[in-house]
Amino acid sequence: MSKFWSPFVKDLVPYVPGEQPKLAKLVKLNTNENPYGPSPKALEAMRAELNDNLRLYPDPNGDRLKQAVAEYYGIDTRQVFLGNGSDEVLAHAFHGLFQHGKPLLFPDISYSFYPVYCGLYGIEYEALPLDEQFQIRVEDYARPNGGIIFPNPNAPTGCLLALEAVEQLLKANQDTVVVVDEAYIDFGGETAISLVNQYPNLLVTQTLSKSRSLAGLRVGLAVGHPDLIEALERIKNSFNSYPLDRMAIAGAAAAFEDKAYFEQTCNAVIDSREKLVAALEQRGFQVLPSAANFIFARHPQQDAATIAARLREKGVIVRHFKQERIAQFLRISIGTEEQNQALLDALEV
Ligand SMILES: *Cc1c(COP(=O)(O)O)cnc(C)c1O
Repeated sequence: MSKFWSPFVKDLVPYVPGEQPKLAKLVKLNTNENPYGPSPKALEAMRAELNDNLRLYPDPNGDRLKQAVAEYYGIDTRQVFLGNGSDEVLAHAFHGLFQHGKPLLFPDISYSFYPVYCGLYGIEYEALPLDEQFQIRVEDYARPNGGIIFPNPNAPTGCLLALEAVEQLLKANQDTVVVVDEAYIDFGGETAISLVNQYPNLLVTQTLSKSRSLAGLRVGLAVGHPDLIEALERIKNSFNSYPLDRMAIAGAAAAFEDKAYFEQTCNAVIDSREKLVAALEQRGFQVLPSAANFIFARHPQQDAATIAARLREKGVIVRHFKQERIAQFLRISIGTEEQNQALLDALEV
């Protein structure tokens, strides 16, 4: 704290991202990065941008990437918004689309950035409890609200809400914006983008950080009715006109165009996930059903924080949240077959 801080900054409670250790050689299963590299075509496209043109500003609208996304989903480019990671896209949605005066609704166990954005933008919220199986109870969201947001699949549980249930929630909430944060949708879910033409209050956000293995590039997007997108563009153009640099636009577009590589790596992650779940269950762990590139697991006889500390000593890092209801769970990102085996080996005492 310093006398130079504004009262606003003094009261901020920032998000704490998962650790990015400086030590190489660690088996890093704590931040849901993709264990496989980005598409070789994306890397090639980025290398091609490393030239004298870097003296020029990038396209402020990222049209090339908007086109690739629109083509991929069979939508109009006016339905696509781009940002510096989906965290930035989410921040603009909080700022520009959620109403004040009634609480924003999201699950009690959910992405911990949501309450942080509420603090940043002065939005009140109500965290609605997941049920005993850690599932979203759609009925609970049929109440007055200033907006609704939830990850699907949910984080850090990995549990998927079926598309029919998402639509049920939309049917009951047509007067406020519903944001579906699909950071992990490509690992086993069905995107709600198919519903955006029917529900003008639906905004779907996605990221290239997980299924397209470009966390280091910082690219996220939102899809929705052009009126919602326009609100986000107004915020963006009042904040930073160039959130995506030349390499990000080119690399992300090429990643969307390389469907074969995308499908192959997603399938590899899904196969490894199913194997890892089986192996952990054999060792007595209880694992929530996951449609993501991570699993959420607990051991009925072993303390989660103790397991995490023991794994760390053996060079394997997983994520543990000191939060009520989930303090006995570990969130484990799906690694390569070798990394998953290293985790299983480290679990043997
Ligand atoms: C990882 C993640 C994001 C943010 O991804 P970016 O890297 O900022 O694109 C958003 N929501 C959830 C639930 C996530 O897990």
